[in-house]
Amino acid sequence: MERQYPEVVGVRRTGWAALDRDPQEDRVEYVCPHCGKRGQKNARRERTQYHFTDGFLQDLQGEVTNCRACGQSLRVVPIVMLHDQDETRRFEAVFSDELEIAHKPAA
Ligand SMILES: [Zn+2]
Repeated sequence: MERQYPEVVGVRRTGWAALDRDPQEDRVEYVCPHCGKRGQKNARRERTQYHFTDGFLQDLQGEVTNCRACGQSLRVVPIVMLHDQDETRRFEAVFSDELEIAHKPAA
């Protein structure tokens, strides 16, 4: 049986949504559900494994990673691919509930 990890929504920014950083980097960004620190990992899954769901290109399988701050495991799922600022804004509106939970400091 696969171990269950706490899940958190991740963002993979490309193109116009990623102008503030090195375009060679292909990262998935998330907020650790254990400690509340922002983290990132190298995107591992091919873009062809992302599918349109609810108006966004999403990877619904996600990726398991370890938080660099607290060392605990988590699953980043779904991973939402964002291409520009419009999509980023739309994403923040649609996922505001999840993002609020993710940004709450750990108790
Ligand atoms: Zn952590």
